[in-house]
Amino acid sequence: MKMQQVGDNCFAVLNEKNRVCDANSGLINRGGGVVIDTQSDLAHARQMIAMFGRVWPAMPRRVINTHEDADHVWGNQLFEGAEIIAHRSVPERMKKVADPKEFQQLLHGVGHLLTRVLLKVTHPGLLAAGKQLLEDYNFDAIELVLPTTLFDERYELDLDGTEAHLIYVGPCHQVGDTIIHVPKERVVFAGDVLFRLCTPMGWTGSYEKWFRCLDLMIELDPEVIVPGHGPVCGIEGVMELKAYLEYVREESKKFFDEGISSLEAARRIEFGPYGEWAAPARLYMNVERAYREFRNEPPDAPWDSAATFDAIYRVAKAKGMEVEF
Ligand SMILES: [Zn+2]
Repeated sequence: MKMQQVGDNCFAVLNEKNRVCDANSGLINRGGGVVIDTQSDLAHARQMIAMFGRVWPAMPRRVINTHEDADHVWGNQLFEGAEIIAHRSVPERMKKVADPKEFQQLLHGVGHLLTRVLLKVTHPGLLAAGKQLLEDYNFDAIELVLPTTLFDERYELDLDGTEAHLIYVGPCHQVGDTIIHVPKERVVFAGDVLFRLCTPMGWTGSYEKWFRCLDLMIELDPEVIVPGHGPVCGIEGVMELKAYLEYVREESKKFFDEGISSLEAARRIEFGPYGEWAAPARLYMNVERAYREFRNEPPDAPWDSAATFDAIYRVAKAKGMEVEF
């Protein structure tokens, strides 16, 4: 992990491995301090707090969760007494998609020989994902701490004269997607509507909504954007993600029209330059999302996470590459 200053009063803590769960956090060091997203486990959250501690005088008074995913909310419990702000949908969604018990059971299972043997046969992708997570994470002792202040479309903070605008842009990657714009410093904290140099994972929402959100970020004209995953960038990072999503949707349509399954399509679609991004086989999720849209399925149709990790595993194997999530 490393800390990077991105504006006069804006900072980022970046998880440089850039694999699943390696989410970034932000800090606006004004008005009592605002932390944006709280990491995937307590050890990472403590490290983030220590890094930001070099530039802030006291524990921040506010936390913003950019959306409901585990890797952005599981350090919430370390910010005792802080106001936690998120979109209105986030508390209920957190209970559904960020239940620590499920993840704790998975990692304990992966560490247990018998379960490991069983998983190898039934869910090789889930086993591989669990093994990868065990390298960096420990989900024990995580308790779900829900947001305390909820908003609908927009929420503005006045941080001693520096404004921070919370703009609801979901659902494009997840239901609660929110970006934070600090106009005075021309900084945007994007959460997971922006993945940089790593393959996006979209859970809920539509391509159209995601494109609109990326266009909005360009309109805001920021100098610096802190993605939810990956290194800090400018507008070029937004353009690259947009080009990727356009490419995947177009390719997916060709295979869909030929009646080929989403898994087979993901095996056949060329990675092109995106093969250099972390976890390129996560392409499967973006193909499957496109297929759901072509089939007119609701954007919030649930995912079977074991089957999804298995499919990503199979795509990586078919391409003869290392399995990475
Ligand atoms: Zn994330």
